[in-house]
Amino acid sequence: MARITTFEAGFCTHRACMALRGAGFAVCAFPARAYLIEAGSGRWLWDTGYASHFIDHTRSGVFAIYAKVTPVHFDAADALAAQLRQCGLQHGDIDALILSHFHGDHIAGLRDFPEVPLLCSGSGWSRTRHLQGIAALRRGFIPGLIPADFESRLRFVESFEHVALPQALAPFTQAYALPGADGEVFIVELPGHAAGHLGAFVDTEDGWVLLASDAAWSPTSYRELVGPSTLSQLIMEDTRSYYDTLRQLQQLDRGGQVRIMLTHEGAL
Ligand SMILES: [Zn+2]
Repeated sequence: MARITTFEAGFCTHRACMALRGAGFAVCAFPARAYLIEAGSGRWLWDTGYASHFIDHTRSGVFAIYAKVTPVHFDAADALAAQLRQCGLQHGDIDALILSHFHGDHIAGLRDFPEVPLLCSGSGWSRTRHLQGIAALRRGFIPGLIPADFESRLRFVESFEHVALPQALAPFTQAYALPGADGEVFIVELPGHAAGHLGAFVDTEDGWVLLASDAAWSPTSYRELVGPSTLSQLIMEDTRSYYDTLRQLQQLDRGGQVRIMLTHEGAL
């Protein structure tokens, strides 16, 4: 059975209603989580959370707006790489780092994992890789966080075996099997939030888990089909797909057989 270890690598704050319409104006903390997935004989990371590189690349210029809109609280000891070292793991112990999408709070630590193979959505990356300046900012993408050799280490999930999922995971029916994970990790597309936004079904001792990344920022979102504020929707890639994905999560949740884990949940 696979095992998931959750890390919180810094957090940002913003008003509750930015994440969930109608939730009020209280300022809430939204942790940036990353996960270690151990399955078969391998170890994978799911996202990186914040890292010092985020602070460095949002200090000035157009990307300073990013840090202003979502003030970030981060200490060097919060870095995923530092937390893994505390657990006795070096970056060489990681088979690959999987990127759920390319928002700064998910990829900021990439530079802390040199030489580690990287997995992501090919269609998502092709829609993101050319973005610069304001266009990048509007998509929550900070090009400076991408290491120079990024593309030479990249493998796209679309190249993985496409498989049918067990009935328990309905309404999700198709996924990409993570190579080397012995059928315990399946990557699915959760479109809408950002280009190439991915989730993963993981078969753990406690049952199926869906790492649902930023498909919602609060369980209330998929339980009651309430999205974030109109302002937050500006950075959303496709609002219609976002709500289609929310409806799928609602159905999955009602099935009661899968635990859904959201990257930033907790405050709401
Ligand atoms: Zn995001």
